[in-house]
Amino acid sequence: MATPVIGQARRGVAAAEPPASPASPASPASPASPALPASPVSPVSPVSPSPLATLLAPTSIAVIGASRTPRTMGNQVLRNLIHQGFTGPVYPVNPGARSVCSVRAYPSITDIPEAVDLAVIAVPQESVAKVAAECGKSGVRGLIVISAGFKEVGAEGAARERNLVEVVRRYGMRMVGPNCMGVINASPDVMMNATFAPYMPPFGAAAFVSQSGALGVSVLDYAREYGIGISQFVSVGNKPDVSGNDLLEAWEHDDTVKVILMYVENFGNPARFLQIASRITATKPIIAVKAGRSKSGARAALSHTGALAASDAAVDALLAQAGVLRAATIEELFDMAMAFGVRSLPRSRRTAVLSNAGGPGILAADAMEGCGLELVSPTTATVTAIKPLLPPGVPVRNPLDLIASATPAGYRSALTSLLQDPMVDCVVPIFIPPLGVDQEAVATAIVNASRARPDKPVLAVLMGRKGLSEWRAELHHAGIPTYIFPESAARAIAALNRYREMSQRPRETPAPLPVDRAGAAAIIAQARGEGRTRLNELEALALLDAYGVRVTRARLARSREAALVAACDLGFPVVMKIVSPDIVHKTDVGGVALDIRDEHAAAKAYDRIISETGHRAAGARVQGVLVAPQVDASGGRETIVGFARDPLFGPLVMFGLGGIYAEALRDVVFRIAPLTQRDARDMVSGIRGTSLLDGIRGQPSVNREGLQEVVRRVAQLAVDFPEIGEVDVNPVLAFEHTVVAVDCRVVLSAVANNAGPH
Ligand code: ADP
Ligand code: MG
Repeated sequence: MATPVIGQARRGVAAAEPPASPASPASPASPASPALPASPVSPVSPVSPSPLATLLAPTSIAVIGASRTPRTMGNQVLRNLIHQGFTGPVYPVNPGARSVCSVRAYPSITDIPEAVDLAVIAVPQESVAKVAAECGKSGVRGLIVISAGFKEVGAEGAARERNLVEVVRRYGMRMVGPNCMGVINASPDVMMNATFAPYMPPFGAAAFVSQSGALGVSVLDYAREYGIGISQFVSVGNKPDVSGNDLLEAWEHDDTVKVILMYVENFGNPARFLQIASRITATKPIIAVKAGRSKSGARAALSHTGALAASDAAVDALLAQAGVLRAATIEELFDMAMAFGVRSLPRSRRTAVLSNAGGPGILAADAMEGCGLELVSPTTATVTAIKPLLPPGVPVRNPLDLIASATPAGYRSALTSLLQDPMVDCVVPIFIPPLGVDQEAVATAIVNASRARPDKPVLAVLMGRKGLSEWRAELHHAGIPTYIFPESAARAIAALNRYREMSQRPRETPAPLPVDRAGAAAIIAQARGEGRTRLNELEALALLDAYGVRVTRARLARSREAALVAACDLGFPVVMKIVSPDIVHKTDVGGVALDIRDEHAAAKAYDRIISETGHRAAGARVQGVLVAPQVDASGGRETIVGFARDPLFGPLVMFGLGGIYAEALRDVVFRIAPLTQRDARDMVSGIRGTSLLDGIRGQPSVNREGLQEVVRRVAQLAVDFPEIGEVDVNPVLAFEHTVVAVDCRVVLSAVANNAGPH
């Protein structure tokens, strides 16, 4: 073998070797002809399309730790490669055997006379690094490390993992794993099942990356059972080298991959994910299931935003911003994945349902409306066309009930008419097999009717498992995904619509607004200079003001007399609030007085605030009392805008329904700063109670653009000042024309911490 050159691409080195037997194709599947003679690499092999090409589509594979004992991982991987038809040569490596599975074995990778592209390693944990180094020396370019016993088992394993990664980098290799299930490429020109899962999934449009190996096995089973085509499957394991992000990049330009599925437990580099996934989702859908709650939940919070950011808000924000569809369960993931087998995306949410039984039709209609789909009434032309198919007096409706005696011809005519209806953009034929109807003929009728309008998606519901498998293939082949339950079809169509809406919206980049950054910096520097990590309310409002957010004019009064002067100057009615670095929620300790109408009331309010907070927040340092004009809140809505920082995801900006009930309502939406205008729009329209911002109960609708701008300005503050840990603007009062902040809390972080690790 050629001496390997560290860090250099190895395909060229291997290609320089004269092939042992250039003409004969490899036939490793046959035990009678062991995979020796074929050339592992064509001398004119083109430049790799992706840095992961060796891992995803290798030309030759060694299995290190290819045991002769059945049901061991190494044995199973070898068997899978051989019996499921890997298209290149396979070399078992086993120091104690002359052959494994009838294929000649080698004592070590260095003994294999031909160049090897990829090595699958299934040896005990302590030997992995040594074996990996031998692979590196032999010119192997990719490793799949199945062996466990690394980072997942604690400090000692983590050290072992670092050492392994160091070896991989030293030889310029790429590695999937350790602690993974392996890689599958079901493409007919590769046919690699380098996993210990017993089956190859049917080849198809989906690529799947899974952070859990165990789940991977059941996912592949499910894919096989439901006929979901998988082109590539990668179990990434501990992912110290090849990550989910790397795979997204590899699949971005792979035309065999039409939809990307992800099972994610944690994001290593959310910023990079956002960048890559946003790009991909413009042209191919990504569907993700995220398991596990975010660790940041444990963070102690000094603000509403901090407390509310504790759940997996960051993940939701990340996926939404990247245009990724989030599935709640694996089942839903597959329902959605299957949906993308449609011939084309629906042009709108207008959907029609037809069935041969009333109940399922109604269930479907309910489920669809629950998913935001619209069941439109058929046009007069459609009604006229369908009427003769029904017994006299039975109405033509959506959902359309063809009743139990519906024939294949009836299905065909009704479906044809609905697909021709200009109001309908997607049709769901539901079929419950009654006795005496030729089920296969119905499936064929559905296929034939849908042929006329390939521009409109058809998703079938064939209730009852029996018989389903026989027709499913025919329907899937015709681009008609099939489901057992109407609810699954409804979710799937909703996902198609969401994807269309997301992929069609223009891509925006965050555009900064003009702000007084120096003014803001001075306020922060002042507090820092005094060794404080909290701004008082006046400073916090001044900070917002510097960032272009409209705030109430507030004054600090250190005595009753000063408070009276301030109140008279500002003009009644006024509000008064305690100013103390030790009080977080002022209302809770009697620190707020509203609707103060005259001097007498002002004097009383001042005294009450001082004495009550003296009791209820004993020991708190009091700097004085803030006096501000009372904003007439009638016709306004109280909202909350803020941000908290996640150590990995960065600044999580929040918008929600606010006031003192913000935490009770929990009606909030997060996005990760920096924000685009669209992000801000999505946030304001994304809360459950968004209709409260419209005209309601005689109140006018509020200025949504103004709210969006406040959200963007607060997000900009988060980006510009990593030393600000948390901001809570609560409430932001929104009116028909104006938006004004009347309370703000700002917490400085001990150390600047803005971004993830890389
Ligand atoms: P905290 O949140 O610390 O309890 P706030 O300053 O937010 O104190 O005051 C509590 C509530 O009082 C606000 O949610 C708002 O409804 C009302 N409020 C506060 N300041 C004003 C103001 N300047 N004008 C009108 N209402 C106000
Ligand atoms: Mg408040």
